[in-house]
Amino acid sequence: MIDIEKFNKILKRVEKPARYIGLEKNSIKKNLKDMEVKFAFAFPDIYEVGMSHLGLHILYNLINEEEEIACERVFAPWVDMEKEMIREGIPLFTLESREPVKNFDFLGFTLQYEMSYTNVINMLHLSGIPILSKERSLEDPFVIAGGPCVYNPEPLADIIDFFVIGEGEEVTLEILNRYKDFKKSGKDKRDFLKEVSKLEGIYVPSFYQVSYNEDGTIKDMIPIIEEAPKTIKKRIIKDLNKVYFPEKLIVPYIEIVHDRIPLEIFRGCTRGCRFCQAGIIYRPVREKSILKLLELADNLVKNTGYEDISLTSLSSCDYSQLKLLVSELINRYEEKKVGISLPSLRLDSFSLDILKEIEKVRKTGLTFAPEAGSQRLRDVINKGVTEEDLTTAVSYAFKEGWSNIKLYFMIGLPTETDEDVLGIKNLGYKVKDIFFNQPKEKRKGNLKITLSASCFVPKPFTPFQWVGQNSIDEFNRKINLLKDNIKDRKITFNYHDPRLSYLEAILARGDRRLGKTLIKAWEKGCKFDGWSELFDYDKWIEAFYETKVQGDFYALRERDLEEILPWDFIDSGVSKEYLIKEYKKAKAQELTRDCRLGCTGCGINKSFSGGVCN
Ligand code: SF4
Repeated sequence: MIDIEKFNKILKRVEKPARYIGLEKNSIKKNLKDMEVKFAFAFPDIYEVGMSHLGLHILYNLINEEEEIACERVFAPWVDMEKEMIREGIPLFTLESREPVKNFDFLGFTLQYEMSYTNVINMLHLSGIPILSKERSLEDPFVIAGGPCVYNPEPLADIIDFFVIGEGEEVTLEILNRYKDFKKSGKDKRDFLKEVSKLEGIYVPSFYQVSYNEDGTIKDMIPIIEEAPKTIKKRIIKDLNKVYFPEKLIVPYIEIVHDRIPLEIFRGCTRGCRFCQAGIIYRPVREKSILKLLELADNLVKNTGYEDISLTSLSSCDYSQLKLLVSELINRYEEKKVGISLPSLRLDSFSLDILKEIEKVRKTGLTFAPEAGSQRLRDVINKGVTEEDLTTAVSYAFKEGWSNIKLYFMIGLPTETDEDVLGIKNLGYKVKDIFFNQPKEKRKGNLKITLSASCFVPKPFTPFQWVGQNSIDEFNRKINLLKDNIKDRKITFNYHDPRLSYLEAILARGDRRLGKTLIKAWEKGCKFDGWSELFDYDKWIEAFYETKVQGDFYALRERDLEEILPWDFIDSGVSKEYLIKEYKKAKAQELTRDCRLGCTGCGINKSFSGGVCN
């Protein structure tokens, strides 16, 4: 355990001590001395962000159900706390037992976004664990990682001992059980890595060798030990009704990003938006039954005291029995004043009807994501939304009393022209006209329209994985085009920092040669890169220069369809042929239907069963 006297002393000097004390309702503290295996679950961002992540709650409770295994949490300490910890010589510790992370058997990171990678390095450093995997001994924990980013694990190949590709509920316990046997065996670290590499979904990067062509593209990637498979097949849970879901959630003392019960209603998405990585990697769609969901909701409401249940998924309005589920939940919880919310809304009257039902009193802001300003570009990205859908939905929303509308877009999508960019402004103005075209006596509230534009980042395992990203200058030109043209006090225009999206694009489609750049950027002080107050682009550019790595090679270059991509060795279940077909259809502005209406041949049903594909 860390020095508690020192710990108590520094707590008084930091901004939010509750980030570091643990002891929340439903947190689980076991006696570590009695445990056969100790697992530190790491979220490489601050407490408030990490505690809002459903995966953390699932794995934390799942692992702690095992009698001889303890799972404790660790988050990235904010800069004030880090400074104090270094000053007092306190290493990174877990919240439950305040035990140094270095004393655990596993340090497991969840990687939700690429810009958290320098925090992974920083957390290793604060723990006193060598940053490079090859420099760790049996005295150090196994450093492992999972989450959506590990569908291209290569930029972290030198840092992480092994990756868990796909859904973690089953494979995590398989790993931990193998570790129990390993611990008794007296074998060395490499033997355990060999052992886990036999498990489906596990990727041990040190067991593979990558060679490159003269132009910098990948020539080959081959396993260098017999046990390592040539292809790593993602793990999925076949039946969501049978998989573990916690009955209790830790209830923080401080406000977190999503302060509510996240009730996961299904996994996967059938819509087929061509920019969306989650829509591919979480296939196939698998729903939880209403009975199961009601049972889970009852337990979670009873055990947490939360007053809001959020029905989470990639596209919650697509749940096949959403109306019934919502009315059942309202019947049960209306009296207890537990509200229901939907995090993602579609632009149709069905979604709005449901919303009307659940927002009987509160009329909070409405958010829609048309993603692109013109119909042409929406067809390119296969966003099955028309302008009519938007105008109908917005008219309906204004009639029902909403007056605060947010519209999300991306700029820099493949084939985008200035006309498409200005389409964003045009949609904003159309929404404004709809509001003011209502008779004055019918207008409710004060109109506020927010147009929000993020910079498109091409992601692995999408039909756009081959495209070059817009340059920072081009993004800025498009942003200025919109800024110059949006001149209405009812409309606010927000946009993301293109420099951050450029770095995200490099890391998202990078290879293992980026590891040294990541470490160099961290050495220069980069951490919490997703936080604008700490993001330092110049340091990153210095890091690229000093490590002789060309960022443009990864972000801006259009790839040949034949090129070996760094993540090609992973089998997401969706075939490369399907992604190529979709890429070609995008260029031809051809739509692909929602595959709930009929299979469109993505291939996942060939290697994985379950969900809508059956
Ligand atoms: S196999 Fe067919 S139904 Fe299943 S996810 Fe793919 S396209 Fe959709």
